[in-house]
Amino acid sequence: MGDEVFHYDVLVVGSGNAACSAAHAALDRKARVGILEKASKRDRGGNSALTGHMRFVFNGIEDVRPLVRNASDGELRALLERLPHRTEAELWDEIMRVTNNQSDQDMLQVHVTESLNTVHWLAGKGHDWTPAGGFKTPSDNILTMNGGGYGLQQRNFAILEKAGVLFHYETSATELIQDQQGRVVGVRALTPAGFANFYGKSVVLACGSFESNPEMRARYLGPGWDLVRLRGVPFNTGDGLRMALDIGAMPHGSWSTCHASPQDLNLPPFTIPISYSTRGSYARYMYPYSIMVNARGERFVDEAEDLRGRTYAKMGRSILAQPGGIAFQILDAKPRKMDIYPSNYDKATTAKADTLENLAEELDINVAGFVKTVREFNAAVQPGHFDPDRHKLDGKRTAGITPPKSNYALPIDEPPFEAFPVRCGMTFTFGGLKIDPKSAQVQHVAGRPIPGLYAAGEMAGGLWVGNYASGSGMMAGATFGRIAGTHAAIAALQS
Ligand SMILES: Cc1cc2nc3c(=O)[nH]c(=O)nc-3n(C[C@H](O)[C@H](O)[C@H](O)COP(=O)(O)OP(=O)(O)OC[C@H]3O[C@@H](n4cnc5c(N)ncnc54)[C@H](O)[C@@H]3O)c2cc1C
Repeated sequence: MGDEVFHYDVLVVGSGNAACSAAHAALDRKARVGILEKASKRDRGGNSALTGHMRFVFNGIEDVRPLVRNASDGELRALLERLPHRTEAELWDEIMRVTNNQSDQDMLQVHVTESLNTVHWLAGKGHDWTPAGGFKTPSDNILTMNGGGYGLQQRNFAILEKAGVLFHYETSATELIQDQQGRVVGVRALTPAGFANFYGKSVVLACGSFESNPEMRARYLGPGWDLVRLRGVPFNTGDGLRMALDIGAMPHGSWSTCHASPQDLNLPPFTIPISYSTRGSYARYMYPYSIMVNARGERFVDEAEDLRGRTYAKMGRSILAQPGGIAFQILDAKPRKMDIYPSNYDKATTAKADTLENLAEELDINVAGFVKTVREFNAAVQPGHFDPDRHKLDGKRTAGITPPKSNYALPIDEPPFEAFPVRCGMTFTFGGLKIDPKSAQVQHVAGRPIPGLYAAGEMAGGLWVGNYASGSGMMAGATFGRIAGTHAAIAALQS
């Protein structure tokens, strides 16, 4: 196959959610679509196959109904009692809030105004959602994709294969091919049989950011990030970014920040979708109802400055900054009695003791420091009603300690005490390319669009800076993937 040459209208690099959305949209325009995927067929799916939910605008039951097949109106109404709407203004505000008003406004405008159209479009392709359960599935979005991201990706592959899209697995894009005018006309890639050229009248890059590349993580995120463990696949090594930067694409967004969240101490170095489906998630998202301490026994962060879905993506960075890059989520007996643990805590690394001293000793936490921290914390807890609702803050807080705990503050005073050791788990990096949000066409540093080149998913920079709101990556991937596939196909079929 070393000398083989392939020709498509739209050539898509990657086969995650953003790539598959681009492929669906190009097929809508009757384009011939080919997909290059670095992973084997067995290991396919990308980070997208490890996900649960999307964060989209909805104004009431009429917007949610078309997404859910197997729920009665009564069940949907009960679901919406938890979160009756997420309007365009609300989604805009919460993303600006978590990014400190640094999200690219033009990107965000499209993200917000197209999210509902996009989920309805996905439903038209054969996807559906189920009501997100209670505390056992710790989502702060009201719906979960049927079968999670794994189910979504299995459906994507089946639909696209049936429509005649050719997938080239174990095929790693290495270089963009340009014509004399600077138009991108294809991709050079390494296949198991050697290099091959794949031509496309348009090329869509959707092969992730650089989260799986230790050298790039250290270069852009800073010391310590080279050694973090991945929550996701090992394949997103920044190849698409490098290939595009090599031909003059404009970098965009925050290259020095990322999505990284609290994970079990025993998080493996990376996860591929097929193993995830048997082991489940290592996420440790009980921290808003805990206190988190480091090995010195000190608190280091406000565990509940905002809703969990609006803090977890920056919590990994705070944990990485602690001695040894680890922390401990400390809870007493009350959350067990309230039954608010997600089911994946059943497999958590944990320690339990009847006294604070014994708990600290068991985990090599400084005993005196830990006991002092808990005493001071307990004394600082203010009266008020504790309500662990993930869609609302309860205002039950501490006073007079630093850092404060702004919500869900309960004293740690009822044995047995439990501790969950956690580390920073890398989800994905925020650095990407500058695209025109209306067409997803990649922009050149000279201020012009690069003819023939489109990008989506993690590769499109600008939306996320320093932090993120849960469910947004899949939503952005589908939205800008759809836009990229549409415009790539229009350009291809005109040429
Ligand atoms: C454990 C976990 C849970 C998550 N949960 C959620 C959630 O519930 N909701 C949410 O919105 N987001 C979630 N995210 C984030 C979400 O996964 C990403 O935002 C989203 O999947 C990005 O989609 P993508 O298509 O850009 O990338 P991916 O799905 O990662 O796809 C990129 C693809 O490109 C391929 N590739 C890489 N390099 C090359 C190359 N050189 N040539 C060819 N192919 C290449 C990769 O193998 C991969 O298949 C989660 C992430 C993780 C890791």
